[in-house]
Amino acid sequence: MGKCMIIGCGGVASVAIHKCCQNSEVFESIMIASRTKSKCDALKEKLQPTTKTVIETAKVNADNVDELVALINSYKPDVVLNLALPYQDLTIMDACLATKTHYVDTANYEPLDTAKFEYKWQWAYRERFEKAGITALLGSGFDPGVTGVFSAYAMKHEFDEINYIDILDCNGGDHGYPFATNFNPEINIREVSAKGSYIEDGKWVETEPMEIKRVYNFKGVGEKDMYLLHHEELESLALNIKGIKRIRFFMTFGQSYLTHLKCLENVGMTSIEPIMYEGKEIVPLQFLKAVLPDPASLGPRTVGKTNIGCIFRGKKDGKDKNYYLYNICDHQECYREVGSQAISYTTGVPAMIGAMMIMTGTWKKAGVYNIEEFDPDPFMEALNKWGLPWEEDFDPTLVD
Ligand code: NDP
Repeated sequence: MGKCMIIGCGGVASVAIHKCCQNSEVFESIMIASRTKSKCDALKEKLQPTTKTVIETAKVNADNVDELVALINSYKPDVVLNLALPYQDLTIMDACLATKTHYVDTANYEPLDTAKFEYKWQWAYRERFEKAGITALLGSGFDPGVTGVFSAYAMKHEFDEINYIDILDCNGGDHGYPFATNFNPEINIREVSAKGSYIEDGKWVETEPMEIKRVYNFKGVGEKDMYLLHHEELESLALNIKGIKRIRFFMTFGQSYLTHLKCLENVGMTSIEPIMYEGKEIVPLQFLKAVLPDPASLGPRTVGKTNIGCIFRGKKDGKDKNYYLYNICDHQECYREVGSQAISYTTGVPAMIGAMMIMTGTWKKAGVYNIEEFDPDPFMEALNKWGLPWEEDFDPTLVD
């Protein structure tokens, strides 16, 4: 079918690349292009003997638009799948514009110096993508990603209007370390140490970090503490889903994680303000990242399951209705299949599916779109096929 260029070769990219190689009919050829080429080569060496997908590798600095443009022009992919970091979103979008190539990512742009997740920078590209006749699919991971597809599916099949959405992200996995993050530590800690927020009646309501706590009994995992966080898909879903009065995002955290985080925060290790150390400028959070376990090393030691999904409340045929859509994913099963734990797996699989939707022309419209703006049905079908089957509950326990 076509060619896909994958930028980045970290935890999420590794899973997406494994999945592309299982799906050679669509991904005839892929190029893995990242900052550290040896990681791309190692993955190629592992996967090439197992797949018909032709794998190429390249070194690229995705902060540099000219370098990206040259590489895209030489490889000529149908789509660029951005699995580097949110800081690279805009340079990669610029390169896609210059070469008229479709773009897919899993996280919205964030400037290095302010931990603020907003779509405004990427939405500003709408007209230019439309004029160029190319698609930018934003947020094709799990959350954002599958949570948007779930919302579009609920809207299409189960509701006339959705008034309340609670997104619940539960990781019941245990890696045995007192403190480690399941994906890029810098991104993860920036996310959880920021103020919380949710949208009510069209307005953002801000909370202190971890101020709102609830306990929920997750199927496949059991009872967990969860905390309200700001999360990027709240912004787009509040606009794209009809009838929304309130939308919130909760993530589970264990006590050990929170105690360590508080301590690191108290001593200044989670700060993104550069400091001088022995004549060199360093960012404390980046230094912390360097001493924490590499998320990629957690795979073999993590046991347990994740359960991520959305509880919808709204109206159907004039009657109140509740509906819960979720996926349960087992860390060890993921590790056996692709050598990664479930956090990377639940992001990498939808990333591959998003690229597939664009490459096959199943999703086709010029411009910049969030995932819930496309027909959810083919994506929902693909989730079942490619390792993230979903379950539904028509009488869920609600979150107060
Ligand atoms: P990793 O840190 O494991 O991987 C990032 C990769 O990008 C690394 O290979 C890194 O290279 C590469 N990279 C970083 N900067 C550059 C650059 N300037 N040029 C080229 N390559 C670069 O991160 P994850 O795999 O955990 O996360 C990837 C993305 O997925 C992030 O944007 C994250 O926010 C997002 N994500 C989304 C989720 C969702 O559900 N929507 C959930 C989890 C993550 P090197 O190997 O040299 O370090």
